[in-house]
Amino acid sequence: MSVSDDIHKRRVAAVARGVGSTIPFYIEKAGGGTLTDVDGREWLDFASGIAVTNVGNAAPKVVEAVRAQVERFTHTCFMVAPYESYVAVCEQLIELTPGSFEKRAALFNSGAEAVENAVKIARHATGRPAVVVFDHAYHGRTNLTMALTAKNMPYKHRFGPFAPEVYRAPMSYPLRDGGLDGAEAARKAIDVIEKQVGADNVAAVLIEPIQGEGGFIVPAPGFLPAIAAWASANGVVFIADEIQTGFCRTGQWFASEDEGLEPDLITTAKGMGGGLPIAGVVGRADLMDAVHAGGLGGTYGGNPVACAAALAAIETMRDLDLASAAQRIASILKPALVALAENDQGIADVRGRGAMIAVELVVPGGLDPDAARTAAVSQACHAAGLLTLTCGTYGNVLRFLPPLVISDEDLRRGIDILTTALRND
Ligand code: PMP
Repeated sequence: MSVSDDIHKRRVAAVARGVGSTIPFYIEKAGGGTLTDVDGREWLDFASGIAVTNVGNAAPKVVEAVRAQVERFTHTCFMVAPYESYVAVCEQLIELTPGSFEKRAALFNSGAEAVENAVKIARHATGRPAVVVFDHAYHGRTNLTMALTAKNMPYKHRFGPFAPEVYRAPMSYPLRDGGLDGAEAARKAIDVIEKQVGADNVAAVLIEPIQGEGGFIVPAPGFLPAIAAWASANGVVFIADEIQTGFCRTGQWFASEDEGLEPDLITTAKGMGGGLPIAGVVGRADLMDAVHAGGLGGTYGGNPVACAAALAAIETMRDLDLASAAQRIASILKPALVALAENDQGIADVRGRGAMIAVELVVPGGLDPDAARTAAVSQACHAAGLLTLTCGTYGNVLRFLPPLVISDEDLRRGIDILTTALRND
């Protein structure tokens, strides 16, 4: 019996079944683009812990900053006895996010918590109740964010009742919405909002610039700017959830930049902390500062160790120009996937930007989702030493999220494994 098997037996007896894992192997160490388990088995990493380890799993500057901070102090609670690094992380969020207006930021522990707080801020600032989200959206697993998330299984099933005043609008999904252009898809969404909710009741429109768990859905060009313009014209707060797309993942600091968006509020997490749990809300000073003193916070939000990691991760992103690295990854990965799609009737779409790329698998001859093949190909990749993830409302999207520091050689080795898995299936 392997060491992993042994740990797995203990896990089944100790860890709640509701908490899943993609692979049943237990990790001993991880580097720039690889994971090694307790038995010495190795995987190339096309998952990055779900788009977190953009700078790698053990980036030298992050390791050093964390070590130094742990030796100084681990926690005081910023709401009790503040420290400089929290302020410095907020300054970085203000500097790096799009929007030339005056901004403020606040720090939290997880993506879901950042989203909850962005909604709190928007409701408080506008005095309105409704939040508009989109088909295929994913915003987290807490009660409010479950309501904001679209997909039932596994995220919402029998976990209700959910928070009220959440309304869902149709998303631009070029493969599956009949090829509506961005303006047409936005008109459809706005029509739903105006007729079913009423602009005056809407505090915020919340959207992922590229949808993550929902299937790496890239809206048609013009969709996001049209929704943002409608929000602005109607006193509605436009919130970009950049938790998965942010921090160089899509080839820019933030995916909103691609269409010149300046969201009123942006939520961040994942890549921001170089592997430590930290999240943020950043945006217009008048909205952020509308909330009364003491209205935002939490025991651990902006923990000093996580702040040290975030500052070091951001420095690493700057030093290594990881936005360009994401573009380079796309320039290798995307053409390889497009070439595969040319000879594979089951690949209906290759999409995404930077190091956030996916293929959508269908039953040849139509658009029926092929979730079974998606799971089989992903498992074949795992068996051959490549860690991949699936996603999508229909479970038929294979997604690739390599760390932005992955070497070209590892990237190409991963593509070879994927190619074999797709061809043999
Ligand atoms: N929003 C988006 C776009 C996400 O991708 C995620 C996580 N997959 C979340 C929110 C929730 O983040 P967390 O898991 O840190 O709560």
